[in-house]
Amino acid sequence: KLSKRLQTVASFVPEKSVVADIGSDHAYLPCYLVLQGVIHRAIAGEVVKGPYESACNEVRKEQLQESIAVRFADGLQAIEKEDGVTAITIAGMGGPLIASILEKDAECLQGVERLILQPNIHAIAIREWAMANDWKIINEEILKEDEKIYEVLVLERGEESLNTVQLLLGPVLYKEKNAVFKEKWQHEINQWLLVLEALKQAEPTTAIAEKERELQQKIELVKEVLKD
Ligand code: SAM
Repeated sequence: KLSKRLQTVASFVPEKSVVADIGSDHAYLPCYLVLQGVIHRAIAGEVVKGPYESACNEVRKEQLQESIAVRFADGLQAIEKEDGVTAITIAGMGGPLIASILEKDAECLQGVERLILQPNIHAIAIREWAMANDWKIINEEILKEDEKIYEVLVLERGEESLNTVQLLLGPVLYKEKNAVFKEKWQHEINQWLLVLEALKQAEPTTAIAEKERELQQKIELVKEVLKD
């Protein structure tokens, strides 16, 4: 059975899209989408041999070789023009890595209408990339599974200007402010407070003072959002 995390990613894949799942590992996500009849064609991209082989094995086991092409490639290079990819999924990596994959071979995004991204940490890197590259966030979800909290971001083409709070917390998530969101950011505040304490013990320098000010600002900002 597919994890709740990947099921959430799958729920944002439009019917009949052609999907490229980058960093697919075991290819559970594209296999699930084809088996459920959501899509008919997908590409599973992997840059590491072990995960690439496990993707090949899974696709063979499910007898989906006709529908899913497994490719050994770095990031978006798994996508070929003729594929006609309309949606890209990238899940289970850090936000900065996902953003760098999207940045690196931007020409491969031609024809792509939707990006469904699931950063494990630092979703802010994706929101910053989106804003700078004319993608807008059309939806976001936050979920908890096995004591871990995950965010899923859904992007389509368009301009959007996000303020500091929206970049950090997510324009959709911070409005919704559900229980998982509150738990995540209360935890972050607690971590920042620990860092602040540690900085106070250190030899004071201008760099440290600057870092303290930054942290304090972030704490105030998030506290304000969590308040009501
Ligand atoms: N997407 C799956 C999921 O969410 O369950 C697998 C996540 S796994 C933690 C991350 C995978 O991304 C690894 O298998 C890794 O080899 C792959 N990966 C990392 N950088 C990549 C890149 N530049 N191109 C393709 N795959 C990459």
